[in-house]
Amino acid sequence: LDVNTLIKPLIDRSDYTPALTELSHLCMIYTQRVIAELETPISHMHKYRSWIDQHLLSVDLRSLQILDNTAIEQRVKRLVDQVSQTNGAHLAVGIEAIFNNVQRIFIGEVEPLDVLLADDILPNVYDAMDQCDVSRFIRRLSHSKPNLRILEIGAGTGGSTANLLKLLTPGNRTLYKNYTFTDISSGFFVAAKDRFANYSNLEYATLDISKDPSDQGFDGRKYDLILATNVIHATASLNDSLSNVRKLLSPTGWFLLHELTPTSKWVNYIFGTLAGWWYGDADGRSDEPYIGLERWERELKTAGFRIPDAAVLDSDHPHQL
Ligand code: SAH
Repeated sequence: LDVNTLIKPLIDRSDYTPALTELSHLCMIYTQRVIAELETPISHMHKYRSWIDQHLLSVDLRSLQILDNTAIEQRVKRLVDQVSQTNGAHLAVGIEAIFNNVQRIFIGEVEPLDVLLADDILPNVYDAMDQCDVSRFIRRLSHSKPNLRILEIGAGTGGSTANLLKLLTPGNRTLYKNYTFTDISSGFFVAAKDRFANYSNLEYATLDISKDPSDQGFDGRKYDLILATNVIHATASLNDSLSNVRKLLSPTGWFLLHELTPTSKWVNYIFGTLAGWWYGDADGRSDEPYIGLERWERELKTAGFRIPDAAVLDSDHPHQL
């Protein structure tokens, strides 16, 4: 398959990404001030604080730094309102949720995940993050390979699953033989079984992709398509995780890797509050867990893949996510 011609960017994030960048900068300036003197028992919060300090030094924000906290709060509200008129609405809500709770999150009085799971903030953010158009690729793949065996890794709240299952069931047909929905945590399965109740041939299983799949009930299993959306960067060793993906791929199979490569750092402001954001610390990813295309190519090759057939940004640079 000539994948390069089959995967196209779907969306234009240019109408809201600059606003999200300014919004997150305001939130970072405010956060820096209010957590500067706080003590915290949570070790990754020290990294979060240093990262904010370092990031704010790397950009010229004099026009925002002169605002007092009340002015920042007002401007945050205005920007959230502004972005709420765009497709970035849920992303602004996610940033604002962290902003509103950041002191209590920092000292460990509130769990960032509890903040983000209220009102479906997190599923909405993930859905808005995964927006690449793979419909032509999936259509061609299912023609060239009927009875697809599909594995999804780190499926979580199911944003990617929903997109893919829709593409795989045109009309009344089902273009796959089985779809294995996995995550390191089985906690997502109840909601997923409910959300995807209308689809057939779905299977749910736990899989920690940082560990050997053959020790987790996946011995000898091979897949024609493996989907991993924003999960590989969340593991401690890219090489271990990619090598484990490789073991599960049929020799003629395809690996569809959706990963963050943003220019704007609003993503870090939200997700840096979670411990998992910092797991790549010892893997040359101490500032942020995600990496650029060059390193992905290197990591994929080292793990036994070939150079990617295609690499596509979801929106034009520098607005891509
Ligand atoms: N793919 C989903 C969720 C992304 S969040 C979406 O795009 O909506 C990352 C997910 O990876 C979480 O659900 C988390 O539980 C899972 N995860 C984290 N570490 C993992 C690991 N080592 N193996 C498998 N899944 C993991």
